[in-house]
Amino acid sequence: MGLNQQMNKLEFDMIVIGAGMAGLSAAGRAAEAGAKVLVAEKQTEIGGSAQYAGFLWTVLDDRVRRGWDDGDPDLGQVVKDNFAEGVNWMRERDMLLSKPTKVLHGNGYQFNVTGHMQDCVKLVRKASGHVALGVEVKKLLKNLDGKVEGALILDDGEMMEVKADSVILATGGFQANPDLRAERIHSNARSIPLRSNTGSTGDGIRLGLETGGAWASENTGFYGHLVSSPTDLDHPSLFTRLSQYHSDYSLLFNENGERFTDESQGDFRNSNELTFQPNARGVLVWDDHVQQEHVLKAFVLGADTEDRLEVALQHGAYGDKVSDLEKLKNVISKWNMDGEKVVQSINEYNHAIQKCPEKLDPPRIYDQRPLNQPPYYALVVEPAISFTHGGLLVDNKSRALNEKGEPIPGLLVAGADVGNVFNRGYAGGLALSLGFALRAVRTAGWTSNKGGDVELYQ
Ligand SMILES: Cc1cc2nc3c(=O)[nH]c(=O)nc-3n(C[C@H](O)[C@H](O)[C@H](O)COP(=O)(O)OP(=O)(O)OC[C@H]3O[C@@H](n4cnc5c(N)ncnc54)[C@H](O)[C@@H]3O)c2cc1C
Repeated sequence: MGLNQQMNKLEFDMIVIGAGMAGLSAAGRAAEAGAKVLVAEKQTEIGGSAQYAGFLWTVLDDRVRRGWDDGDPDLGQVVKDNFAEGVNWMRERDMLLSKPTKVLHGNGYQFNVTGHMQDCVKLVRKASGHVALGVEVKKLLKNLDGKVEGALILDDGEMMEVKADSVILATGGFQANPDLRAERIHSNARSIPLRSNTGSTGDGIRLGLETGGAWASENTGFYGHLVSSPTDLDHPSLFTRLSQYHSDYSLLFNENGERFTDESQGDFRNSNELTFQPNARGVLVWDDHVQQEHVLKAFVLGADTEDRLEVALQHGAYGDKVSDLEKLKNVISKWNMDGEKVVQSINEYNHAIQKCPEKLDPPRIYDQRPLNQPPYYALVVEPAISFTHGGLLVDNKSRALNEKGEPIPGLLVAGADVGNVFNRGYAGGLALSLGFALRAVRTAGWTSNKGGDVELYQ
């Protein structure tokens, strides 16, 4: 149902823009505390990228560098500080589907994210709020004191002025906007495949900037995975089926046959690094040990165990399984890459990892084993993007800040629209969204101090 059916009630306590993980979590939590919330979603269904996710997890230990090494520690702390409360909220409403489990380099739970988001819609409606689908937020409104006090929303050809005490931007980043990707990440990023919902085109960031907000500092990072190439992620089920989660146990080469990153730091990081290599294209090579121990075993509880090379080949990718390195050289050369250099690089790597791993450049911190158990598997890969790590300048109370670092009264941000929580590291996208959503709701005064305005206007 659109907004025009609600014309007599165009005043809300809160407007939330975006009905994905961050937006619906914030809306549901605020509604539980009695807030009347309008959620405005531009697509015709709720869910955003969150509908494709399955694990609520994070990294609570700072020493695990793959999670937190390069984001803003103050913002990372928001995710960590709110994780237990968020998990508890899910537990109370039966949204956790597993016991605590290891997820990548962190810990968490299998999670009914769709059930959670649907329940948040119910909570919003129960508190006399509304979830409007297929609407376009044109502009945020400010009063004479500069406080955000609502939005202009286009619904079914009709422009609505909606008033609210606070607005939360939660539109999921800018990964679905090729021009912004090229501008903010790298020219190669313009044409990398999209592995997310198609609605996250940077609208929240644009609305924030137009209202006096600022970009957080330069951040070219994103969460993504290597996918087989050539690729066509034309169906969301391929987002995971074509992802090469085992790249951190493999070796990754650019088109010139050179290693360029410490693969063992994680597939999400390998996809970032490949974006900066020639044509953002590479070849992933693994041996039979990796195939048996990592490809054919679930990388995380409940994940499928398909033979990823087979699936990739069925979808038109360039790849092969060969008995020795000489044959590896020949197949890779057929894909317009330097096969001879790849084999030379493997031999150099195998020598160094066994004799003097400290001399390896790029290094190999985890999984220090040689790649020497034939058969060998080779697959051409490219980086696919799921959500961007650059975004709006936001403080640890979820408040949007202007260039001087001052809060914009009434304007809050949650989820992937928040800039700089991660950079090349990654410690859970759902946890990021949930953490900033809970924080934003508290800042707006809708939990312990219902309806209060303790921090929002300070
Ligand atoms: C395939 C896949 C698997 C994933 N698996 C996991 C996982 O297991 N664990 C994990 O932690 N993370 C995972 N993630 C990441 C996680 O889904 C995201 O980090 C999270 O959904 C981001 O939440 P968000 O609310 O910021 O954005 P989203 O959930 O994407 O929601 C943003 C919403 O805003 C809407 N929107 C955009 N512009 C506007 C506008 N102008 N007006 C109104 N609405 C707008 C969009 O249409 C969308 O519905 C996965 C992502 C993908 C793509």
